[in-house]
Amino acid sequence: MPLLTVEGLEARHGLLRAVRGVDLALDEGETLALVGANGAGKTTLLRTIAGAHRASAGRIGFDSADITALPAHRRVPLGIALVPEGRQLFTGMTVEENLLVAAGRGRPGRWTMATVLDAFPQLRPKFKARAGDLSGGQQQATAIARALMTNPRLLLLDEVSLGLSPVAVDQLYVSLQTLLGGGATVVLVEQDLGRALRVASRVVCLLEGRVTYAGAARETTRERVMEAYFGMTGGR
Ligand code: ATP
Repeated sequence: MPLLTVEGLEARHGLLRAVRGVDLALDEGETLALVGANGAGKTTLLRTIAGAHRASAGRIGFDSADITALPAHRRVPLGIALVPEGRQLFTGMTVEENLLVAAGRGRPGRWTMATVLDAFPQLRPKFKARAGDLSGGQQQATAIARALMTNPRLLLLDEVSLGLSPVAVDQLYVSLQTLLGGGATVVLVEQDLGRALRVASRVVCLLEGRVTYAGAARETTRERVMEAYFGMTGGR
């Protein structure tokens, strides 16, 4: 039984159908990389799974329950956490305060203040610093740490490398690799296709809101994804 099941999902921005009939299923412990060009619908799909955007049709199942109509704040205690594009930290609050806000909202589990700091050691010296004063990499680490504090069963990561220096991205991915190696279930949107293929167990490509490719990462070539990325699959 998959942990997450998405069936015929549709999500709109006004008249625009940003997500069109998406089906996917994710087992516990899998890492799914969601790739696709700008505007393909990746963020809207993640936000709809998290409950931050309303589904206009279709069904989202989580651990065999139908959660399609649940608002985001009721999905968090079930174990769904979103690290949104742009981080959306409380910039006037310290790292510690950002983490504490999340701690009360989720489930009990292995992630505590101590264990998230072990996973993101770069945050230790910044624990009492205002989130708004941190570097981009430190802010992103705080955003992921904040999501972990809810002890999610499913972690949704939206473009965590966006706007970071290559060194900061590498450092972030060291922590993420530890997380993924520890059996976390993750959907991640990542622009860097090479990186996505390295960290994910499965890859789904979206084009104009539809799935144009889905496959195991180890059987997926860069060329195959690029065809799906640009919609060149039909004519070949
Ligand atoms: P990116 O990589 O640029 O973040 P994406 O694949 O995440 O792209 P979405 O952000 O989900 O794609 O956007 C899907 C479509 O919905 C695009 O055509 C986009 O212009 C449109 N869209 C996204 N957010 C809004 C909004 N708030 N209002 C209107 N249209 C939107």
